[in-house]
Amino acid sequence: MEKLIITVAPTGGQTTRQHTPYVPLTPKEIADSVYEAWQEGAAIAHIHVRDQHGKPTLDLERYIEVVDRIRDKCDIIINLTTAGAVKMNDEDRLRVCKLRPEMASFDAGSTNFGSEVFINSPDFLERLAIKMKEYQIKPEIEIFDVGMIHNALRLAEKELLKPPFHFQFVLGVKGGMPATPKNLMYLVDSIPPGSTWSALGASKDQLTINTISILLGGHVRVGMEDSVYFRKGELAKTNAQFVKRVVDLSRILGREIATPNEARSILGLNSK
Ligand code: ZN
Repeated sequence: MEKLIITVAPTGGQTTRQHTPYVPLTPKEIADSVYEAWQEGAAIAHIHVRDQHGKPTLDLERYIEVVDRIRDKCDIIINLTTAGAVKMNDEDRLRVCKLRPEMASFDAGSTNFGSEVFINSPDFLERLAIKMKEYQIKPEIEIFDVGMIHNALRLAEKELLKPPFHFQFVLGVKGGMPATPKNLMYLVDSIPPGSTWSALGASKDQLTINTISILLGGHVRVGMEDSVYFRKGELAKTNAQFVKRVVDLSRILGREIATPNEARSILGLNSK
């Protein structure tokens, strides 16, 4: 099996200090958390930024500060969110592409998201795909439900998304597919041969979905964007803690961990 690519998602758009006092929110906290996760074995950092009040923002200056701070310390692959949070406007979301990250999230359809609605209209997806192509950004195609795979493949038919594709299966969000082994296997069977994929389970399902992904030859995402508890009743104190656990687990299961440059080669990115 290919080496395991670990993505760390340290902050997200939803996790607040009410959920956990340990979530990194300032550019320095986010960059430090990514660096610690990289030291433990993370190859990709999926980055959201917050404003001075800790609220989600798509402010480019905030992104630049976080990315510069990370780049000063390590060669982790930068994957910027183009969502920010569920109610951001399309123009601000598209603007993130100007920063030319190696990867960026591409949420391939609309879904209920807890008590809110996460809108990714067909028109927006087309525009986002065009922008990512223009700036040579590898889309991390986020899939909350199986129909979204087909949204992405329709864009591929128009040559707006190019194979080999990289899918991120987001399971266990209220409104998307539940985080069950059967659902994950169905998603894996539904993507074109030659694609790579990673999966995450929100909240209590993180470790289950991580484990199945390691065994099935996929890749994994961990971090406080998706889960704040390390185990039942115990908050994670750092994002690195989650990374270390999947590194240990993967080695027990016989799979080595990809460095950022090995991950670049698996995903077809240019080496740094
Ligand atoms: Zn995200």
